[in-house]
Amino acid sequence: MTNIIEEFSEILRREEPLSRHTWLKIGGPAEYFFVPRTEQELLGVIRGCRSAGLAIHILGGGSNLLVHDEGIRGAVIQVMEPLLSSVTVQGTSIVAGGGALLSHVVSEAVRHGLAGLEHLVGIPGTIGGAVAGNSGGRLGDIGQVIRSVSVLTQSGDQAVRTGDELSFSYRRSDLQDLLVLSVTMELTADDSENLTRRTRKNWIMKRSTQPLADQSAGCIFRNPRGLSAGALIEQCGLKGQSAGKARISDRHANFIVTEEGATSRDIEQLIARIQRAVSEKFGVQLELEIRSWPPLQALP
Ligand SMILES: Cc1cc2nc3c(=O)[nH]c(=O)nc-3n(C[C@H](O)[C@H](O)[C@H](O)COP(=O)(O)OP(=O)(O)OC[C@H]3O[C@@H](n4cnc5c(N)ncnc54)[C@H](O)[C@@H]3O)c2cc1C
Repeated sequence: MTNIIEEFSEILRREEPLSRHTWLKIGGPAEYFFVPRTEQELLGVIRGCRSAGLAIHILGGGSNLLVHDEGIRGAVIQVMEPLLSSVTVQGTSIVAGGGALLSHVVSEAVRHGLAGLEHLVGIPGTIGGAVAGNSGGRLGDIGQVIRSVSVLTQSGDQAVRTGDELSFSYRRSDLQDLLVLSVTMELTADDSENLTRRTRKNWIMKRSTQPLADQSAGCIFRNPRGLSAGALIEQCGLKGQSAGKARISDRHANFIVTEEGATSRDIEQLIARIQRAVSEKFGVQLELEIRSWPPLQALP
């Protein structure tokens, strides 16, 4: 343990509040918080954590995460620009590092007249986070354009996943690896002006239906098959209800927004209230879309 602390002291913060790194601005301290600057440092930190027996948690942009107020034991490693942030266009392919911001990759694709990512405009976070959760929306998800993913396996080896090894479904990928290092996406050549117009339209649509200016973590619940979680919550009359400093958004009922001082307990209370109301009124059990560190226990 002493080794890793000394070797990486420049990029290690002890007991770093994760509220500083999540979009909800919620989350207690990470016991060890590493911010590697290069891929070599990243690999070194991971090796060090493994030999010290520390649990490893990979953090991207923190835009899909609820972290408990008590924080998290072990190591949190932040993989975000400038780390692993290169974006290269080769013909109709784009290769992006796992730490590149999705917004940056979308704008590079549009700038090069490449279609396939324009419906992901406005989604915060990194490419690594987007691949881990197969981010997307009504018009499609990132999994549809992925040709291969370069990963670090749980045992610390580098590998490339292609074809049969990759399976994406609604807000899920089946990648069991520790870390996405880079992603190769296959896009389609398109007229630049058309593409820019479509991207702008998608952005305006997203901005008009989601509370993008507030602190949130995107949609809290997965849509049950053929139904909209937001519509079910709205029909229960829950829009605008709050617990402590957290509130069910007036704009989109599947978003919980927070104010300064909100706690994970506030969010958990709202989650439980929503699940109970939707189950009683519609007999539907809503499942979480956001990730939780540590995983939320079955709520009352
Ligand atoms: C305002 C707002 C709007 C949103 N709109 C949408 C939307 O329309 N559609 C949608 O799908 N999502 C949406 N989201 C949710 C979120 O932006 C996406 O899920 C995003 O892709 C998460 O990326 P991240 O880097 O922030 O991941 P994080 O929140 O940091 O992490 C999420 C998960 O990904 C894992 N992870 C992160 N980086 C890596 C990596 N390099 N390798 C392996 N695993 C990694 C983490 O361990 C964690 O389990 C929205 C969020 C907000 C705040």
